[in-house]
Amino acid sequence: MAGLTNEQVDLIARQLAGRLGGGGAVTEPATAAPRTVFVTSNEGVYATVDECVAAARQAFLDLQDLSLAKRTEIIAAFRSTMLREAEDLARQAREETGMGRFEHKVIKNRLVAEKTPGTEILQPRTTTGDNGLTLMEWAPFGVIGAITPTTNPTSTIICNAIGMIAAGNSVVFNVHPGAVLCSMNTVRHLNAASISVGGPANLVTAVAGPTIASATELMHHDGINLLVVTGGPGVVKAAMKSGKRAVSAGPGNPPVVVDDTADLQKAGRDIVHGAGFDNNVICVDEKEVFVTAGSGKKLLESMRASGAYVLSDTELRRLEPLIFDEIRGPRTHGVINKKWVGKNADVILSQIGIQAGPEVTLVVADVPEDHPLVWSEQLMPVLPVVKVSHVARGINLAREAEYGFGHSASMHSHDIEQLSRMARVINTSIFVKNGPIVAGLGAGGEGYTSFTIASPTGEGLTTPLSFSRQRRCVMVDHFRIV
Ligand code: NAD
Repeated sequence: MAGLTNEQVDLIARQLAGRLGGGGAVTEPATAAPRTVFVTSNEGVYATVDECVAAARQAFLDLQDLSLAKRTEIIAAFRSTMLREAEDLARQAREETGMGRFEHKVIKNRLVAEKTPGTEILQPRTTTGDNGLTLMEWAPFGVIGAITPTTNPTSTIICNAIGMIAAGNSVVFNVHPGAVLCSMNTVRHLNAASISVGGPANLVTAVAGPTIASATELMHHDGINLLVVTGGPGVVKAAMKSGKRAVSAGPGNPPVVVDDTADLQKAGRDIVHGAGFDNNVICVDEKEVFVTAGSGKKLLESMRASGAYVLSDTELRRLEPLIFDEIRGPRTHGVINKKWVGKNADVILSQIGIQAGPEVTLVVADVPEDHPLVWSEQLMPVLPVVKVSHVARGINLAREAEYGFGHSASMHSHDIEQLSRMARVINTSIFVKNGPIVAGLGAGGEGYTSFTIASPTGEGLTTPLSFSRQRRCVMVDHFRIV
């Protein structure tokens, strides 16, 4: 038995229990989440970074000895196990983090289980000519160090594990300290799935008591061949400074532009759906809207009809000190009060004396362009809407409010010139036309999914190819058969 002592496990459980239950009156399934920390060696959870890396290294070597068909079978087992556990893990994540919505976390878990690419994407390439044949294949890096966020804890682990192991790697996770139990349970299920089809144990390992110190140790560990970090600006900066190759998925502040040619009813509905999805904790969720002045009133009406509560000016004044610990001035990121991150719209409204039912999923504020709500990634279902004189102004403001993160954006319009213009100007990894931005994750849109969208380092929506090395094998003068 490797890992934590029972006293350490009890301590973690007590610390977590102290953090649970502070989430306000959120509609939840009645059953409580099981709370177990797993510390046996087959289940992948270890007390130290060294133990995690050693176990994952052995698993990587074991995986190397297996066929590609077996690897494909392991990925299929990951998918079916995660589909089976999608609801339980969603419930655990909601309860432990106090953020988001159970039903949306179920969708996220299912989405990554079904639509994260697997071994099928590792298509080799060949070239032949008078000088023979050259084969180019996708090889694993080895042991990956992965750091995951609190906003999508289980879905990021599922997505990363499928992509990284499909590419032939093993992985050590240092998860967010606020999402330990749901993350450890995800890791345990992934290892059990591998073992159930004759795959190695410990393909996925995790530090039982993760901290910034253990994340830093992982980033600098000699046994780690590649870093993959998903989170805010701090972790991206730390990974880029580590001296290792890093696939870095950082923050966003996705803008939406709506012009006079848009179907305003559909635009309002899509924006409320997207910005309210998992209470806006997802990095791609709509964070601010720029609408041409002639369409502003109609858009707000449509948003109201789709489940948004539109604040009056006096109500907005009451909301500002709740959301912000500090407002640092116009066009500047404020300091967010983390207590309200990911809470339901009706819970947030009740804090400023507005009683709304659970059918209200989004709070909307009609604000001037300089308002700090526009310039702050708050991760709450509170969406600023700015009226602009013309569409070009909206596109330029969208580019500025996105801060050059290159993450995500959308536009609602039927003017193909403007749609193309915004696509070029905004320069983001994901750009959605006439739909909620989650469609860019494959939820209601075409294409594969990823919950690690690496804009700063250029991989975009990561796949097994992002976790692979290119290798070339050359046969000189032979094997061209035509
Ligand atoms: P966070 O940055 O607080 O934490 C993310 C992870 O990084 C955690 O495991 C945390 O412990 C670790 N971490 C933070 N600072 C670190 C440091 N200096 N050194 C080492 N490790 C560090 O973010 P969060 O609140 O968990 O998640 C929300 C943020 O993540 C938002 O900014 C969101 O936009 C972003 N995000 C981006 C993507 C993407 O794919 N681009 C996906 C999800 C979340």
